Amino acid sequence: MINKEDRNKRHKRAMQRKKAHVDSRIAEATIDKGLLLVLTGNGKGKSSSAFGMLARSVGHGMQCGVVQFIKGQWECGEQLAFEEHPLVEFHVMNTGFTWETQDRETDIAAAKLTWTKASLLLKNSSVKIIILDELTYMLTYGYLDKKMVLTSLVNRPVNQHVIVTGRNASKELVEIADTVSEINDTKHAFNAGIKAQKGIDY
Ligand code: ATP
Ligand code: MG
Repeated sequence: MINKEDRNKRHKRAMQRKKAHVDSRIAEATIDKGLLLVLTGNGKGKSSSAFGMLARSVGHGMQCGVVQFIKGQWECGEQLAFEEHPLVEFHVMNTGFTWETQDRETDIAAAKLTWTKASLLLKNSSVKIIILDELTYMLTYGYLDKKMVLTSLVNRPVNQHVIVTGRNASKELVEIADTVSEINDTKHAFNAGIKAQKGIDY
């Protein structure tokens, strides 16, 4: 049986070792640069995570851009919260889901028009963080030219952060990204017959 005092001493030693390790890792991370983040996978939490970072950035007074490439019928809380915000330039491709429009030509025209907004943001160094929500589908469906999109992302201002969301991120996008999170669909309420909930899903 270990007595309480020994256990506390051991804990303190372990925490000291941990702190030394964490401190040295922090000291090694000296690079400051704009990041490309990709949030992909079949689980819930991609767009909501991106908008969480938007909230953080707005909190810091940073100028932000949002381009939503797909939008359903729901009135999204993130749009209501940030659309009129003086720090946020907000663009939405208003065609709805591809399975709603069922029209490839219309979708391609809308995607290209929406990309012009993203492209301008990606050239503007005063915009510190950009969310390209559901962009991956524009590439998987071939609505936007992959090379053109990747080139714009790579050539953006050095200190600009970009967050791309959507399922099935291509390997080229993953390659050029700094941070990639694959969110797994372990369980989703929808599969138990529960409808989309305000504040949680939209
Ligand atoms: P969120 O916006 O909630 O972070 P997401 O961006 O990860 O979700 P999308 O594929 O963009 O996921 O789907 C948007 C909507 O579909 C949200 O209402 C979300 O809750 C729901 N959803 C996400 N993943 C699943 C899933 N695996 N099964 C059913 N519905 C899902
Ligand atoms: Mg999403």
